[in-house]
Amino acid sequence: MCEGNYKIKFRCPDETCGGEVLEEVMVDVTQSSNLNEITDEGDIEYGDTSADGGVVDRYQCMRCGKVVPLGDDPQPDDLFAWLRDNNMLEQA
Ligand SMILES: [Zn+2]
Repeated sequence: MCEGNYKIKFRCPDETCGGEVLEEVMVDVTQSSNLNEITDEGDIEYGDTSADGGVVDRYQCMRCGKVVPLGDDPQPDDLFAWLRDNNMLEQA
């Protein structure tokens, strides 16, 4: 396989799910949000959000939450190998 950029064509490992969106879940993140509006009941409308720090806890299907099996300390290169081995990469 050539080096370079790949589009991720994720398909949930649970075939009954059919989810196609892969998400990264981070922990220990400091998140900052701009506040735009607030109601008299305290409902806030947020603007831009940014996040600092954090570590990847897991990669998972956005629809059902099934976790990509990469062990306790998932690394991006492990994710790449898993996606490659499961034919979920497409040369960009
Ligand atoms: Zn799923």
